[in-house]
Amino acid sequence: MQKTIGYAAYNHNSPLLPFSFERRDPQPTDVQIEILFCGVCHSDIHQVRNEWGNSVFPMVPGHEIVGKVIKTGNEVTRFKPGDSVGVGCLVDSCRVCPDCRENLEQFCNDAVFTYNSPDKHSGGSNYGGYSRQIVVDQDFVLHVSDKLDLAAAAPLLCAGITTYSPLRNWGVGKGDKVGIVGLGGLGHMGIKFARAFGAHVVLFTTTPGKANDARRLGADEVVVSKNIEEVQEHLASFDFILDTVAAPHNLDVYTSLLKRDGTLCLVGVPDHPHPSPAVGNLIFKRRSIAGSLIGGLKETQEMLDFCAENAITSDIEIIPIQQVNEAYERVLKSDVKYRFVIDLASLKQLE
Ligand code: NAP
Ligand code: ZN
Ligand code: ZN
Repeated sequence: MQKTIGYAAYNHNSPLLPFSFERRDPQPTDVQIEILFCGVCHSDIHQVRNEWGNSVFPMVPGHEIVGKVIKTGNEVTRFKPGDSVGVGCLVDSCRVCPDCRENLEQFCNDAVFTYNSPDKHSGGSNYGGYSRQIVVDQDFVLHVSDKLDLAAAAPLLCAGITTYSPLRNWGVGKGDKVGIVGLGGLGHMGIKFARAFGAHVVLFTTTPGKANDARRLGADEVVVSKNIEEVQEHLASFDFILDTVAAPHNLDVYTSLLKRDGTLCLVGVPDHPHPSPAVGNLIFKRRSIAGSLIGGLKETQEMLDFCAENAITSDIEIIPIQQVNEAYERVLKSDVKYRFVIDLASLKQLE
């Protein structure tokens, strides 16, 4: 075992504070990674505050990890020391169930998430990316092109794949009108991908001050969702709407904007349920409400390669880890432009 340092929540209402813990020594198929950058996902905040009711403390959050390989086990074939790599929300799965065989490990009943998930190696709960290093089986490590700025690539590992995967699954492309609801970490990546796939992109926001940024990021139109008349100009006109909002809200506003057979796909995971959707909105135009969860390893690599080819990264604010609690407060006020990324070199002074 090797000692390392990170930042942890000690209980559901404590700020994140320094925390010393151990990582396993690399096993034959493991890759040991020095973490350089880790994005701050709203899911980190939900779990640190136990809003999903399944939190185990102390908790080291972080699943948008980018770093350099420092050591590999003797059976590792795909990575060598010095490689730039990423780790997202998954670190293991059963490998044999139908979901795993179809490269959809995120739906495996035995999927192991990167933190706050049972760890077969330690017998406890595992620890995430707000730390100096991590040890992960090579099958759950991704190649990150050196063409990409590594700090700005970190959010691709969750915000990126969580928006790329549903846009691909529902076949969004040229000629489609696509809505993105919420301009935060996920939303800003949703705009970039929908635009890159050739769609006409409309952002729905509660924050009028984000309109110029949304256009710069690739939105063709911006609608302030509190302005009902502006929203209703778009009735029954969308092929697909991706809703990234982290709080409960009225879904009928968005289902009514879908064309016949259109889909509203939810990726936000609020702590309380949304109000029940109006069935009439669904049956009269055969519309659907769907959900999507991150993406499998194969698709995550495809997304990272697509980003390298098309020069797509996140718009980020880099912070030292000592500022993570203030960053959480700003995310909760919808005041993030558009992802905080922690520079883990800031942990050196604690070693
Ligand atoms: P974020 O950066 O906080 O962005 C969420 C955005 O939603 C905000 O910036 C804000 O945009 C809008 N919003 C917030 N509160 C709202 C409210 N009460 N009503 C309407 N709009 C509101 O969060 P994120 O990191 O993108 O994550 C978003 C959600 O997705 C979280 O619940 C997270 O847990 C979840 N998530 C799911 C998956 C998955 O696999 N399904 C993966 C990652 C994250 P405007 O200012 O533009 O309105
Ligand atoms: Zn996330
Ligand atoms: Zn499986």
